[in-house]
Amino acid sequence: MNGYETTIGLEIHCELKTESKIFCSCANVFGGEPNTHCCPVCSGLPGVMPVINKKAVEYTVKAGLAMNCEISEYSKWDRKNYFYPDLPKAWQTSQYDLPLCGKGLVEYELNGEKKSVRINRIHLEEDAGKLIHEGGITRVDYNRCGVPLMEIVTEPDLHSADEVLAFLDELKSILKYTGVSDVKMQEGSLRCDVNLSVAKAGGGKLGTRTETKNLNSFSSARRSIIFETNRQIEVLESGGEIRQETRRWDDNKGEGYSMRGKEDAHDYRYFPEPDLMPVVLPKSEVEKIRASIPELKGERIARYTDELSLPPYDAKILTQDKEIADLFDETVKAGANPKKASNYIMSEILRKGKTEGAEDVVVGINAKQLNDILSLVGDGTISLVASKQVLDDIWLSDKSAKESVEKLGLKQNNDSGEIESILRGIIDANPKVVADYRAGNEKVTAFFVGQVMKATKGKSNPKVVNELLVKLLK
Ligand SMILES: [Zn+2]
Repeated sequence: MNGYETTIGLEIHCELKTESKIFCSCANVFGGEPNTHCCPVCSGLPGVMPVINKKAVEYTVKAGLAMNCEISEYSKWDRKNYFYPDLPKAWQTSQYDLPLCGKGLVEYELNGEKKSVRINRIHLEEDAGKLIHEGGITRVDYNRCGVPLMEIVTEPDLHSADEVLAFLDELKSILKYTGVSDVKMQEGSLRCDVNLSVAKAGGGKLGTRTETKNLNSFSSARRSIIFETNRQIEVLESGGEIRQETRRWDDNKGEGYSMRGKEDAHDYRYFPEPDLMPVVLPKSEVEKIRASIPELKGERIARYTDELSLPPYDAKILTQDKEIADLFDETVKAGANPKKASNYIMSEILRKGKTEGAEDVVVGINAKQLNDILSLVGDGTISLVASKQVLDDIWLSDKSAKESVEKLGLKQNNDSGEIESILRGIIDANPKVVADYRAGNEKVTAFFVGQVMKATKGKSNPKVVNELLVKLLK
């Protein structure tokens, strides 16, 4: 914009979905009463010894392989020293010069164009606690302390908010499909730092960058990128200089502000962690992890189009969220016709599951319930319209679709004798519309169908109504 080029690199923090924390056996669960998922290790008491959670290492390597990273045969732990109340030990056990995963590449798509982002490294570290500011005082909750946190660092290969969002979307899908994280942005399990600079286009030199910390939703990432790009251009246009600094984003105000001058690595006094052995990963071990990577999004799209003959459009929509793709797979496995299941999921399930503004889809129905709804519609027991009431009724419960149909009295009337007599009455009462039809205006059939539905509270089988209508009007 205005002859400027934006350059963006990301540091993405992702909480791993292990059962226990990274260095102790405390449960790795979101929420809970403050300080109830803690022990001497994760609350940083002196003299305690950490023990590495092998699953956290495996998950990081798995994610690295899915992002085409080189995996280190030898990596080690380092202490990153800083003092802040959410970090009881006053150092974070992290990885400095020898991370688990090295260079990689993630391909993504934006408006039909294939693009890619190089990964610089992925390392594993522990999460910090959470400060709760309330009523003028600040309290600290250490439940999140020691939750395994994977940090993905990209090269500065992104140039706009649109690119960042498309890339993050792809990344989210990789993390979900590999099963290493549930990526619940609302619960903070994916947070993103944005390094951004602007420079005159074609100048061949990058500008000074700022780092905006801890963006925890796609929408705040988008807004903060647009804000920071404009701010830097304004500073440069008015003859000022960009200061290298760490910034915060206030989503309520819709603006960013300077937090502190940017630290360099030497400010953290990194040194090797003396309490943990280095991680040695022989090639055979890495190959074992590679073999455990489940089917990823691209492979699923190919299977849906090749084996299930779905249109590419359907395959793409269904695989956008792993939960939806899983529901589709299981519903087909339960016996549903793939295209019918796809249609119903794309229209009804996604309508209900995607609330506006929310970034995580809610799947409030299981495969058996969905397959039952599809069969009930398929054999004419209920109409498509009535199926929406059933869906509302059983959503987020384990109620059976069949019982719901009984309870709500939604059974469709397939009795052609009864429908015919109602239809005859309506035809007799509307000679003008009948004349219209006979004059060639076939659109008026909708009027008759509507009248029958009104008379039978929407419970007549529209197929039967239409057949009878053609017969009676001719
Ligand atoms: Zn613990």
